[in-house]
Amino acid sequence: MEKMIQLKKDILEYMECIKIVDHHEHMWEVLFKDCPREIDLPFFFTRGYLESDLVSAGLPSNFSKVFSYLLEGKDRSEEAWSQLSPYLKRVKNTVYYQYLLIALRDLYGYEHEEFGDDWRELSEKIRANNRKNPQWALSLLDKMGIRRVILDIADTGMPSEKIVKDERLVQVVRMDGFIMGDMNVIRALRDEPIRSLDDYLDALDETFEKAVRKGAVGIKSGLAYQRIIEYREVPKYKAERIFTVGLSNVSSGERRVFQDFMMHEVCKRCAEHGLPFQIHTGIQAGNFNTISNANPTYLTNLIRKYREVKFDIFHGGYPYFREAGILAKYFPNAYVDGCWLTHISPSAYREALNEWLEIVPATKIFAWGGDHEIPEHTYASLKLAKELVAEVLAFKVIDGRFSKKTAYWIAERIMGKNAEEVYGF
Ligand SMILES: [Zn+2]
Repeated sequence: MEKMIQLKKDILEYMECIKIVDHHEHMWEVLFKDCPREIDLPFFFTRGYLESDLVSAGLPSNFSKVFSYLLEGKDRSEEAWSQLSPYLKRVKNTVYYQYLLIALRDLYGYEHEEFGDDWRELSEKIRANNRKNPQWALSLLDKMGIRRVILDIADTGMPSEKIVKDERLVQVVRMDGFIMGDMNVIRALRDEPIRSLDDYLDALDETFEKAVRKGAVGIKSGLAYQRIIEYREVPKYKAERIFTVGLSNVSSGERRVFQDFMMHEVCKRCAEHGLPFQIHTGIQAGNFNTISNANPTYLTNLIRKYREVKFDIFHGGYPYFREAGILAKYFPNAYVDGCWLTHISPSAYREALNEWLEIVPATKIFAWGGDHEIPEHTYASLKLAKELVAEVLAFKVIDGRFSKKTAYWIAERIMGKNAEEVYGF
């Protein structure tokens, strides 16, 4: 036991010198040159993953509407807190609640597990710090030793230009608007009219070229929130017919056929431009979704067909983390990514990383990404991730699986170097 504790400590210490890559973040407003967003304690708890547990415990699902006051510079924290706090008490067992306490303790000196009248003082401190954004968010990146953050904030196919200039911040862009046939997105990207599927594909080409010119480091798809992530092969004439009739005039089955076709077109362009493709698999944030839509094994045909594309399989596919691991084991171009999983379930994360390290080359595992809008949440997540990685590695060393030296090498690889290699930083 003592040996284990010392080893974990050594690995944690070693990790302090590693250049960390944060694989996945949604920090947008807090990183805008002019940050419009204030953050108080009710918002701190609600904007993020905990909201889904609160809703699951009975909080009305439209509760977040109350937070409009934070964009208007008004103070209605008292009202928000009184509505929220009965539900907070009901979720204190979940990790989404507990990991936020790490941030409150380390960054604000708040030592308790629950909240009394002291919430107001804490709330004011959070609000004061976040008024200084983007500087506050950037100072937390310094504190965390993060070398690169891959931001996923561009739904429109183009990197956001509102973000503060900082060499650590890089962006992936989403082409999901093209895949879904969202004409509003496409019109915003292109002046000329789109009369045919060929025009549409030209627009996709132009968008890829422009996104790369503007520094996009990869493509992201989050369609597992909206549909099954199985994308069958579709001949062009079928997609053309549907496009000509108009996507709003066809059945949902036909719309899916069109989307399937477009996903393959996006993969082809990822190959042409050498862009890694991040794909959401597994648990969807929020409530009321269908988990079986998001099984990573549905991606098998894409991964097999587009060998030049590096597929970054998100969230370890949780709860299908074994399946995600098998994909990374089978295919040289598949990578398994533990972003977000650390604070979904530390137990699952430990188990997943433990198994992945047995079956997948360590060069194909990405250990961590915060996946947050609020910078303090990312701080908490990284602290937890480091603990978990150190525990898993220390256990392997004690077990005689590999040496301490190898444990250090793995830590360096999975916390940063793999991402540098794959994303070409
Ligand atoms: Zn995300």
